[in-house]
Amino acid sequence: MARTLTRTASKSPSATARLLCLVNRHQPVGRRADWDGASYISRCEHCQAPIFRLKKGKWRRDRRRRGGQDRL
Ligand SMILES: [Zn+2]
Repeated sequence: MARTLTRTASKSPSATARLLCLVNRHQPVGRRADWDGASYISRCEHCQAPIFRLKKGKWRRDRRRRGGQDRL
């Protein structure tokens, strides 16, 4: 029982990704982005939140847009 649980937890790659999402570090779906005239925008691969590119490699939650699950 315990062995199975441990194995499942450590084998899940999205566990780390979700942690990153919690600290506002997201990754765009398929590493693609759209230019909206002010910044690059996309959607988080892990939590589906609307995100924008702060700078290269750094994506933040886009609070200007509503992503459906915005509880912050
Ligand atoms: Zn995310």
